[in-house]
Amino acid sequence: MKFSSEQIHRYSRQIILPGIGGKGQGKLAEAKVFIMGAGGLGSPAAIYLAAAGVGTLGLADSDRVEMHNLQRQILYRTPDVGLLKVESGKKTLESLNPEVKVQTYSERITSANIKEIIRDYNLVLDGSDNFPTRFLVNDACYFEKKTLISGAILRFDGQLSTFKPNAGGPCYRCLFPQPPPPGLVPSCQEAGVLGAVAGVIGLLQANEALKEILGIGESMSGRLLLFNALALSFQEVKIQKNPDCSLCGMNPTIRELIDYPQTCQA
Ligand SMILES: [Zn+2]
Repeated sequence: MKFSSEQIHRYSRQIILPGIGGKGQGKLAEAKVFIMGAGGLGSPAAIYLAAAGVGTLGLADSDRVEMHNLQRQILYRTPDVGLLKVESGKKTLESLNPEVKVQTYSERITSANIKEIIRDYNLVLDGSDNFPTRFLVNDACYFEKKTLISGAILRFDGQLSTFKPNAGGPCYRCLFPQPPPPGLVPSCQEAGVLGAVAGVIGLLQANEALKEILGIGESMSGRLLLFNALALSFQEVKIQKNPDCSLCGMNPTIRELIDYPQTCQA
């Protein structure tokens, strides 16, 4: 891949890094990352991936910007309240880096459309805020053989992992076989979340996405990172592929996507 002098200048601080170089920058330019949810996690992740020169970003969110989003969803500014998140987010990302192609999906992502949508991408970053979507994204990534970078946040806590069940690692269902019953787990809306926690986990998701694209460092596949902001502690738990997993195990019972009822109105 041939870069202009302006591009070399823009990316100079990462092109000089060992393991990246012009070749790595070319990989980033050719990469396509789908971001599910342009909220607290998707915002910082999208900004850093665009800044790093990831060639195509897919941004999926059917919501409009609301005042109470601005505390953590840094893709948006106060005058953006009322606009579609994906439209406003696309403008922010394109002004940061006009070379990045931003595809927007403002329709609801369901079992009917997710597989065709993510098929065009190399990697999926899940920044959704509810269990039905998290399971839908996990299952769709398994069927479409896409690497999934998963993040979740609540109150002062966050977690992160990478799922590559088609490459021998566990999937999200190996860890959590089923969504919790409606009402058992509070949503961010009910329980609150510190904006900076969303920033920490969203940026770690961007970090892992860049590593997977570049093929550098150690993958988070098979590892679950737990973050607590109050103690400022990071804990790592090993996670194994579950041979009895209903999706990626030896005798799978899930053969198609499931639309679980939405338990929280975000
Ligand atoms: Zn599994």
